[in-house]
Amino acid sequence: MTKQDKISEAVVRRLPVYLRYLNELSASDILTVSSQELGARLNLNPAQIRKDLAYFGDFGRKGVGYNVSYLIEKIRQILKLDRPLYVALVGTGNLGRALSNYNTYLKDNMKIVSIFDADPSKVGMVINNLVVQPVEELAQTVKEKNIAIGIITVPAAAAQKVADRFVEAGVRGILNFAPTVLRTPEDVRIHQTDFTADLLSLAYYMNFDSEDTTKGTLEDESLVD
Ligand code: NAD
Repeated sequence: MTKQDKISEAVVRRLPVYLRYLNELSASDILTVSSQELGARLNLNPAQIRKDLAYFGDFGRKGVGYNVSYLIEKIRQILKLDRPLYVALVGTGNLGRALSNYNTYLKDNMKIVSIFDADPSKVGMVINNLVVQPVEELAQTVKEKNIAIGIITVPAAAAQKVADRFVEAGVRGILNFAPTVLRTPEDVRIHQTDFTADLLSLAYYMNFDSEDTTKGTLEDESLVD
């Protein structure tokens, strides 16, 4: 097992957070940053940040902090973002369109380069300079454009079929927005973005007044059609 295999998922997920802030610092011509500053800005424990970054080598200098551009370069290397990574998106409905438009802001070598839909009325539409292609062209485009990652923004019922297409085409990383569990071979990494579960679970943390007598369902209220 290589050293990188042992890095926990929590650390891997924090690295892009560091990277985003470091990019901001770099854009403001700030050359160095301490773990205290990073921690204060990102609401993380500085000791945690030092520990995370120590996994990958001795980047910081006592009393000086981290060299911003060096740290950006190192985190990009660790995340394998030191080379272009091409992404395809399937499902150009409400969410797919929003993400395709957001593409402009994706930095760090990752880019949505192709978008697909099964609806003939959407094929040929242009979203943020990308032409919607028929989903039948997915496999060929993945090969031609060397696409490594797939994004799924189709309804839950269609998501497995789209995942199968991605896998067959050779994609080994999938970001799934559809609220369904995908079955894929072990060597395919799935990241699930579950907007609804995230939102609904927030309810647990709300401190309702125990005297509150307004319990009921949304259907009871005139606000809901
Ligand atoms: P949508 O109905 O607006 O868009 C879905 C798109 O997928 C359509 O363009 C449709 O033609 C296409 N599609 C359907 N089957 C396909 C297939 N087999 N191959 C290729 N394309 C296919 O839906 P949406 O609101 O954009 O949501 C998309 C997914 O994301 C859903 O699973 C939804 O639950 C989830 N989601 C949506 C939101 C949101 O804010 N809209 C938020 C979180 C999660």
